[in-house]
Amino acid sequence: MTEQAGFRDARYAHAVVKKIESLNQGRETRIVHVCGTHEDTIVQHGVRSLLPKSIKLVAGPGCPVCVCAAQDVDMAIELARQGHIITTFGDMVRVPSTDSSLAKERTSGADVRIVYGVSEAVEIARENPDKEVVFIGIGFETTAPTIALELIRGPPSNYSVFTSLKVIPPAMDLLVNLEGFGVDGFITPGHVSTIIGSNAFQPFAEKTGVPCVVAGFEPLDVLESVRMILVQIEEGRADSENEYTRVVKPEGNLAAQRVIEQAFRVDDAPWRGLGIIEKSGYSIREEFGEHNARLRFEFPEIESVDILPGCRCHEVILGMIGPVDCALFGKRCTIEDPYGPCMVGREGTCRIRFENLE
Ligand code: SF4
Repeated sequence: MTEQAGFRDARYAHAVVKKIESLNQGRETRIVHVCGTHEDTIVQHGVRSLLPKSIKLVAGPGCPVCVCAAQDVDMAIELARQGHIITTFGDMVRVPSTDSSLAKERTSGADVRIVYGVSEAVEIARENPDKEVVFIGIGFETTAPTIALELIRGPPSNYSVFTSLKVIPPAMDLLVNLEGFGVDGFITPGHVSTIIGSNAFQPFAEKTGVPCVVAGFEPLDVLESVRMILVQIEEGRADSENEYTRVVKPEGNLAAQRVIEQAFRVDDAPWRGLGIIEKSGYSIREEFGEHNARLRFEFPEIESVDILPGCRCHEVILGMIGPVDCALFGKRCTIEDPYGPCMVGREGTCRIRFENLE
């Protein structure tokens, strides 16, 4: 049996579900995750249908392109309109903003290129010394190290980064303090935790009294993390525990953390539909100012619209409604022609639901 097959073993899954049932005993329990890949696992493998009805698994803000503020997308579009070469990861290109997207700008002649790694963007800058090359950096703690590393290595002078990088724990804080939201436990993100470590959530768990468990991305990982959260609730504890021990270390990746620390500082940042969240984004440190696209270029006043009329992405991102509760789902808003950001990327809650419609 492969390792992956072991994490999809139906008999073991049923045994874990039995333990979950006996631990929960019909209590209403809301468990929130903040990772698009977890939502993908949950939907693809029907994890919700395996759990007792009293346990709600809720998708929170865990999709990088969904939470990228319209203001940031509009500024990236402005850079494309100024004639610079724009490089970024695939999903970002299709994110709809106030009145356009990078994909639409490309159709109108802008030079927008999808790259599969930050080093590719740096290479494009080397190959085009007469052009300004801007990398649009989105994502969470997971993507920050490679972006930071290229800054530290000393990229060519025509290379700059427009950061819209986010830090996850402050968004979890927002959820806990949101009136009427209610959360009994967090499944904390596996990818982010490979960088920051499972210990990073311990202060949060202690402060809020909400149990946290880092989970992997197989269905049994998710079920096991639910069981571990219920054990903590049963024992009256709130700790950060690690189900994903085969990948995540308690201390995380110290080398990656050092690189992030060297290139970035943590600042308040705008999240799409959620407003400014304190200390929730990475900004480029002054030492690398010449490569900071926010300082390097001029931007006009832009009246950005985070949530377009009728779109309910802000409620989807907060797990307050499901994708099918939006009247535009599958009608005005489809994977081919996304109206809101949650329909764009593989980690978007609306797209995942759309791809798994029965
Ligand atoms: S279906 Fe489309 S418009 Fe509606 S919430 Fe999802 S992404 Fe936004």
